[in-house]
Order: sequence, then structure tokens, then C-alpha cells
Amino acid sequence: MNEDVFDELFCMGTVITQRIIGKNAKVVLNESVEELKKIEKLMSYFDSESDVYKINKNAGISKVNVNDETSFVIQKSLEYSKLTNGAFDITAGVLSNLWRESTKIKEVPDSKIIKEGKKLVGYKDIVIDSSSVFLKKIGQSIDLGAIAKGYAADKVIEIYKKNGIKSAFVNLGGNVYVLGKKQDDTPWKIGIQNPRGMTSDIIGYLQVNDKTVVTSGDYQRYFIKDGVRYHHIINSKTGYPEDSGITSVTVISNNSMKADAVSTAMFVLGVKKTLKLFNKLDNIAIIVISSNDKIYISKNIENNFTLLNKNLDVSYI
Ligand code: AMP
Ligand code: MG
Repeated sequence: MNEDVFDELFCMGTVITQRIIGKNAKVVLNESVEELKKIEKLMSYFDSESDVYKINKNAGISKVNVNDETSFVIQKSLEYSKLTNGAFDITAGVLSNLWRESTKIKEVPDSKIIKEGKKLVGYKDIVIDSSSVFLKKIGQSIDLGAIAKGYAADKVIEIYKKNGIKSAFVNLGGNVYVLGKKQDDTPWKIGIQNPRGMTSDIIGYLQVNDKTVVTSGDYQRYFIKDGVRYHHIINSKTGYPEDSGITSVTVISNNSMKADAVSTAMFVLGVKKTLKLFNKLDNIAIIVISSNDKIYISKNIENNFTLLNKNLDVSYI
């Protein structure tokens, strides 16, 4: 008999929902919850026992031995930094933290502090070997917030598959991975949020199987001050939340870690450079919404996407 379980968990700073259909679904759920908690324990920015915390605390002082999973995610992060010319950079940690704090009080940080923070960004300052990580400068810090959820989604899907689950999904605060089809044999439906609407206001939806759908947007965490939107995706070259003209970029792929890193990078890069980067990458599809109400849909996902919002000016790329 197939079990059909649904679970909500607060972990990795977000609400994680899972639906698993199959034999032993409850046991599989327990295993994936354990894995998610383990990843949080290793990669949290705040937990004083995490690898990330220890790396940051010892920046400029000493190298830190880390778990293989942490090492893997950091190595991959470096690849994505090179690929995106630093648009994606986990050493933006100091700046991300600064803006996180300022979002709480809805105040723009002092420009001098931002200038100092910028000096502590640079993925080339990460020294990594198979078992340890060292940040070259005192005060430097890494933040895996733009990639760890993708990594976690891939791990969860691996657990589902290993246990013979054929139909499931995991949603880590908008970072979605769907496995197989729904029970009625139709594809899973995933809504794409209107960046200027409520959570329930979707501009359209995707229908896919065995795919991850990851969105980076300026509406997920932000505050508005004097008419300017300050959000959580930082251009480490300026030190400020990026105003690239993109309000939301969705990456559809088989690899959630890649989709997570690339969507964050594309947000920072803006439409033109995003289209260039898209042409360099294999096995991904994208949907980009810009602040002037244009939507760019890659042709390789066109047939899986239903656009509901008719006010958007559509380009197929
Ligand atoms: P995402 O929602 O995946 O686009 O990731 C955004 C989160 O990643 C932020 O909350 C920060 O913790 C971190 N972050 C912000 N800007 C960057 C960046 N340029 N490169 C890497 N990580 C970033
Ligand atoms: Mg990301």
C-alpha cells in the first residue's frame, strides 16, 4: 500500500514542505528530515557549531577542518563564482549580514560601513583542500544562503530515489524539486509568483516532472526606504542590493544546487548578461521577469509554461 505523507518543517531559515507518495513514505520522510537538519547544522551562518561559523570565526587566523558535504558545497560555490565572474560570491557574507540587520530596522547602512564590507569580499580569498577551509582576511565571512537550499533539495531527492519513491516534491521556501508525476499521472504544477503581488498572485505556472524550479527575486526579503527597495541579493562589487532591472529569475534544471547558484547570479547580472550566461549553460531553462514588465521565457520550457498574466510583454529566447 502506498502511503501519502505531507510534512512542514522549519529548517535552514525557512519553511520546508515535503510530500512523499510510496511505500515507506513515513520512513523516507524521517530520513530526509534528518538529512535537512544535518545540512543546517553544518552550513548555518548563525549556529556556533556549524562548519560555516567556525570558518568565519577563524578567518585570517587558521584553517578549519570541515565535513565533506560542506567542502563540496564550497568547492562548487567557487566554480559558480568563476562562471559568473563573481556575481555569485559566498564571501559576500559580511555584506549580506549587514543588509540582513538593516532590513530588521528598515535603515540603510552607513556608506562607510558598506565600503569596509566590500573589502572583505573575494572568492579568491578562499583556500580550500579536501578537508579544510581557510579565509585569508580577518573579518571575512562566507554565507551559503544562495546555494545550500539547492544542495539540500538535491540530497532529499537522492534519498527519495534511493528508497524507491517515484512521486514526491520538496519545497524549501520556494526552492522546489519535483520527482516523477502526481498520483493521477499528471505533471506537478509550480506557480511563478508575481514579484509585485501577494504570495498567492502567480503570473503563470510550470508543469514539469523530475525538475527543480528555483527563483531568486527582490520580493522575498526586503524593505522600502524613501521609495527604494532594498532586498537580500547583493552585488558585492557595489555593496548594495542589486537593482539590475530583474525582479525575478527562475531557473529550471535537474540540479538544484546549480539552479540555486545560477539564479542568484543571474539576478545580479541583469537581463543582458543573463541571456549570455544562459547560452553558455547546458540543461537549464529560465524565466526572467524585469521591472519594466517584460518576461523572457526560454524556448526549451515554453511548452511547459502557462502564462496567466496578460500584462507582461513576452519574449521567447
Ligand atoms: P537566493 O535567495 O538563493 O538568491 O540567495 C540570497 C541569499 O544569498 C541572501 O539572503 C544572502 O544570504 C546570500 N547572498 C546575497 N547576495 C549574494 C551573492 N551575490 N552571492 C552569493 N550569495 C549571496
Ligand atoms: Mg540562490
